[in-house]
Amino acid sequence: MADEDYYTLLGVDKSASADDIKRAFRKAAMECHPDLHPGDTDAEQKFKKINEAYEVLKDDQKRAAYDRYGKAAFEGGMGGGNPFGGGFGFNAEDLSDVFSSIFSDFMGGGATSSKNRTRGSDLSYHLSLTLEEAFKGCEKEIQVKTTEPCEACHGFGTSDGKEAPVCETCHGSGKVRRSQGGFLVFETVCPTCHGEGRVIKDKCSKCHGTGTQKVEKTIKVTIPAGIEDATRMRVTGAGEAGIRGAQSGDLYIFISIKDHALYQRNESNLYTMVPVSMTCAALGGKIEIPGIDGQKIEIDIKEGTQSGSEVRIKGQGMPFLKSTRRGDLYVTLRVETPTHLSKKEKELLEQFRELSGDDDCQPETKGFFEKIKELFE
Ligand SMILES: [Zn+2]
Ligand SMILES: [Zn+2]
Repeated sequence: MADEDYYTLLGVDKSASADDIKRAFRKAAMECHPDLHPGDTDAEQKFKKINEAYEVLKDDQKRAAYDRYGKAAFEGGMGGGNPFGGGFGFNAEDLSDVFSSIFSDFMGGGATSSKNRTRGSDLSYHLSLTLEEAFKGCEKEIQVKTTEPCEACHGFGTSDGKEAPVCETCHGSGKVRRSQGGFLVFETVCPTCHGEGRVIKDKCSKCHGTGTQKVEKTIKVTIPAGIEDATRMRVTGAGEAGIRGAQSGDLYIFISIKDHALYQRNESNLYTMVPVSMTCAALGGKIEIPGIDGQKIEIDIKEGTQSGSEVRIKGQGMPFLKSTRRGDLYVTLRVETPTHLSKKEKELLEQFRELSGDDDCQPETKGFFEKIKELFE
């Protein structure tokens, strides 16, 4: 199960509601919780995967990023199997109410596995830009719900604001070894400190011992000109606060670029289709279209332009990242056949038909019918 889909892991489909996901997660986590299968590495692996899947799918932003980019959305810059902080981060708050009641009897306390004692969780944010914004680059202010170290206790969770003393049961390791029936020994989470390695005697009244406080931060992001769709930007240290003064996580911003009314983009080139009147195509002329930079672009239509022909306009595409150079604009011309002709217009076209007859003014048509003739001979 090296790389299973998160939805498959939880046994829900892609349209599942937040409640469905939560329910499926609890059910799946109950089935393979390592405390129920001591020593069973398969169950432990499965439990990790389920946690990883739930960590992503329970969060709207992360879920949207996953739907769009898959696991690639969370790769890089983070150690461990759990993409949001590494190690056994486990959704303690979601699981504790289920498991503490089951395990408290023989575990002597909450059995939510050892908590992540190091780095804060990474956050993700989905930012949608217009093509114009991607062209020019821009500054965006985004609001993220995150945590920072509690002001009152400096992140230690203690009433005196100093680091809590080392746990006497496990001497700070957060784990204890237990033997059951002689030689069978297994390691479990320290029941005294619940894996934290330190015991807070008097909890900080402001954060109730968590050491963190919830905040909504405004983060200014500078989007460089030429940014591409599906780019991931990292804002180092803007994720959740680390536990007890450890390093903060990072914020990952996933950029998507909205569809544009006129232009399609492929890397630094832009593509568009412009209708050309039949007369303009036949006689030649000029048409104007608005460029992505807001300037007018004049396109020369040569006499005898065919429908579907392409004009390349150099330097009118998107900018290359960190460069003043720009890609090109490709305009496909589509000759439009006139409709709703007035009587006079029809007469003129009839005259034109009589005049042009079988001459060389429509080479493609002529060639086509000549080929057909050959086929029948
Ligand atoms: Zn301990
Ligand atoms: Zn506090």
